[in-house]
Amino acid sequence: MAKRLSKLKVLVVEDSKVALKAISGYIEDMGVQPFLAENGKDAIDIYNRERPDIVLLDIILPDTDGYEVAKEIRRLQGKDEWTAIIFLSVMSKDEDLARGIEVGGDDYIMKPVGSVVVQAKVRAMYRLVQMQRALVKLAGQLNDANQELQRLSMTDGLTGIANRRMFDTVLAREWRRCLRLSKPLSVVMLDVDYFKKYNDRYGHQEGDDCLVAVASEVSRAAPRPGDLVARYGGEEFVMILSETTESGAHLVAERIRRQVEKLNLPHQDSPYGHVTVSCGISSVQPTTGLTPEMLVKSADNALYLSKNQGRNMITYLDYGQI
Ligand code: GH3
Ligand code: MG
Ligand code: MG
Ligand code: MG
Repeated sequence: MAKRLSKLKVLVVEDSKVALKAISGYIEDMGVQPFLAENGKDAIDIYNRERPDIVLLDIILPDTDGYEVAKEIRRLQGKDEWTAIIFLSVMSKDEDLARGIEVGGDDYIMKPVGSVVVQAKVRAMYRLVQMQRALVKLAGQLNDANQELQRLSMTDGLTGIANRRMFDTVLAREWRRCLRLSKPLSVVMLDVDYFKKYNDRYGHQEGDDCLVAVASEVSRAAPRPGDLVARYGGEEFVMILSETTESGAHLVAERIRRQVEKLNLPHQDSPYGHVTVSCGISSVQPTTGLTPEMLVKSADNALYLSKNQGRNMITYLDYGQI
């Protein structure tokens, strides 16, 4: 037991030298070297410096009372910290004990104190301190797991970029932001050309690899903080370009179209001989009465035109245009 307790930090606050010596002796017998204070100010100083696990706290002190010290300790205590406070009291009135608990105490010992009671209570409180630490650790792990879940629920499993759900969330946010700032907002829809034929010839695994490669090119083209690249569906990607006009969006889309061509992924069943993408763009300055859904629809209509006019190209349509 002594070995296990050796790391325990105990602070004894007691202005009677006789009592202080006795109590610290009992604690030393447990293999623990306690910190000692004879007044409230020293107690708080030591608390701040050492952050003890357990404080044995006299009620009547020369400069202040134990209740005030307990309150101050609770006030100073961090969110994940916990110090057990045991009041030392000569008063046998129940109200005083009740008050001690009310201001943040956890237990009490009646003076004059004996070694058996002090040591038993320190052990009991140590058990509580350990339980509290385990709880804090568990809460931290839960929090990490929740964050990871949150991230996964917003990420596309194949490509690692944002998924449709994330896209919807960010679009709503950027729409509101551009509305407030009177800035334009652009959406670019991209779709891999003749992708069904690609899968049919090269197999689904190659198809997946191709999507990962295209996703990486699309991601690289949108490095600004307000931008988002998401997988919209099977072989469709979408970009949000915040505070970006039609011409800015066109530059970005053209860069992607060119970069995908440069990947030079063979596609024998495409008239281009390699993998290509078609793009549709729409831009608008959000105002009340307009909707982000219609902006996406317009970009989708623009994409459809790119497909109809031969693919591997970019088309722009105004908001609401069919
Ligand atoms: P278009 O040029 O008009 O876009 O023709 P397309 O063949 O690309 O378009 P279509 O929508 O007819 O076919 C899309 C294909 O994409 C169908 C499906 O097999 C494939 N696909 C969708 N999701 C995935 C995926 O996660 N992995 C793979 N390998 N293929 C996918
Ligand atoms: Mg006293
Ligand atoms: Mg396609
Ligand atoms: Mg498609």
